[in-house]
Amino acid sequence: MASETKPRVLFDRQRIAVTVRRLAAEIKKDYQGQDILLIGVLKGAFVFLADLIRLLDLPLEVDFIGLSSYARGRESSGKIQVTQPASCPIKGRDVLVIEDIVDTGLTTAFLLDYLSRQKPASLRLCALLDKPWPRRVPVTIDYLGFSVPDKFVVGYGLDCGEKFRNLPDICFLEDN
Ligand code: 5GP
Repeated sequence: MASETKPRVLFDRQRIAVTVRRLAAEIKKDYQGQDILLIGVLKGAFVFLADLIRLLDLPLEVDFIGLSSYARGRESSGKIQVTQPASCPIKGRDVLVIEDIVDTGLTTAFLLDYLSRQKPASLRLCALLDKPWPRRVPVTIDYLGFSVPDKFVVGYGLDCGEKFRNLPDICFLEDN
């Protein structure tokens, strides 16, 4: 049998739940009386977004945007493309972007610039994970779940070659 890459738990599901609750409380406090448009970045943020919105008892709408950046396996290609635009108008909306992970920052910086050109009333970023060390462009994360070491992480919506999104814990991959 071929050697496998084994996922090792970095943050387990209980710890993730505590963190998602904390983020929801911070967001609720800041957006009282506003009608937010949450934009989830496909595909990696879909599990996080699904858990987060169920803790936000605020008027909100959900949309998704598809971006491609990792054209060559685990290395950022640096070339970002919108593969699926958001379907809701952005102009005049209070937009909160929901990202799975900020790594080099290239994807998020591109996305924030792309959205800001559409003239939202406000634009903030909530990221579940941050890898501060490989950063190539500065990105301000308004709501952050966890900082992670410079390792490739999977699970809780994040993939490696479309696998592992269904892991309930956030894991890193160890090569055997
Ligand atoms: P960046 O442009 O900041 O380098 O990368 C952002 C995107 O790359 C994330 O939205 C995610 O899709 C992917 N990515 C970056 N690091 C990781 C990682 O450790 N694991 C996974 N699964 N995806 C990652």
